[in-house]
Amino acid sequence: MDKDLIDLTSELIRRRSITPEDSGCQEILCQHLKKCDFEIEDFPFADVKNFWAKRQGSDPNAAVFLFAGHTDVVPPGPENLWRFPPFDPVLEDGHLFGRGAADMKGSLAAMIIATERFTEKYPDHAGSIAFLITSDEEGPFINGTVRVVEALMERAERVDFCLVGEPSSSVHVGDTIKNGRRGSLSGSLHVNGHQGHVAYPDTSSNAIHLALPALDELAETIWDNGNDDFPSSSFQITSFESGSAENIIPGEARVKFNFRFSTEQTTDSLQQQVDTVLDNHQLDYELAWKLSGEPFLTKSGPLISATLECIEEVCGFQSQLSTAGGTSDGRFISKMSHELIELGPINKTIHKIDECVSVSDLSQLTDIYQLLLEKLIR
Ligand SMILES: [Zn+2]
Repeated sequence: MDKDLIDLTSELIRRRSITPEDSGCQEILCQHLKKCDFEIEDFPFADVKNFWAKRQGSDPNAAVFLFAGHTDVVPPGPENLWRFPPFDPVLEDGHLFGRGAADMKGSLAAMIIATERFTEKYPDHAGSIAFLITSDEEGPFINGTVRVVEALMERAERVDFCLVGEPSSSVHVGDTIKNGRRGSLSGSLHVNGHQGHVAYPDTSSNAIHLALPALDELAETIWDNGNDDFPSSSFQITSFESGSAENIIPGEARVKFNFRFSTEQTTDSLQQQVDTVLDNHQLDYELAWKLSGEPFLTKSGPLISATLECIEEVCGFQSQLSTAGGTSDGRFISKMSHELIELGPINKTIHKIDECVSVSDLSQLTDIYQLLLEKLIR
């Protein structure tokens, strides 16, 4: 019964589409969409492949539902550690193994099959269905979704509801709907001291000793307590480099850190607080910032209500809303879509050796996606 779903997922896994390569995945998706009378527009930027596809509904005023996702995958790591070759999908014990099975070629297949079934059942559906697919989600996110969204917003393309197929589920498929994400802000700090001979500390100034108390204060700070929608903001030091030889007092220290932040903070408020701590410790420093994404949130509305109903119908339980986890392309699309959620397979094996997805989960996900179309744009 799920042969079409397994075949399409396997066909996608077989393509070695490591970011920013698409390796023909989008061609496969477009072939299916063309058969369902979608109009397809390619949006290539530099080495990244993207496309936008739309099937116009019969009522031009009815809602537009967007499926969004990515065809690229992270590298497999040492291939000899995999049970099966990572780009040669194998079905065993009801699980399909391969790089991208859960993140997110399985979801792409589920979106396509759900769309095929829906359009066959309701060829004159009122609302419109769209797809926005990129080959640069796992990479630098410069020429992917962010640029397509810019182009679409310029021509005032309408999107009411967006579902991103990122693997949101934790124990059972459908148990978690991501309705927002925390912001992500990185800092690169350079602390200056004064290099010298380790035997003569009086004439030098140890950059590690200077940096540590300030870093300790940053690490111990409670930034906020979160709110109803977000967990508290967190600060993590991600790298610390200094020193050259055991008889030299280091004259500089390089530190990298990252904030995942709630809507209780802004980029400005975090930057100011960090500056204050560093200044209070009288450090001589340079600090460069990189913002990966502001926090975003979809409050309760038709999309979330419909999704909760669909999951209850298909899976028989009440799903949870969550804003935890890493960033995704949702942060870009949320600028043009009234409501946006992420709903996909279990994320236990993503980016790992032996990534896999349960076929029955994918089948349920397809049913949920199809039901959502039926509830929102039929
Ligand atoms: Zn992903």
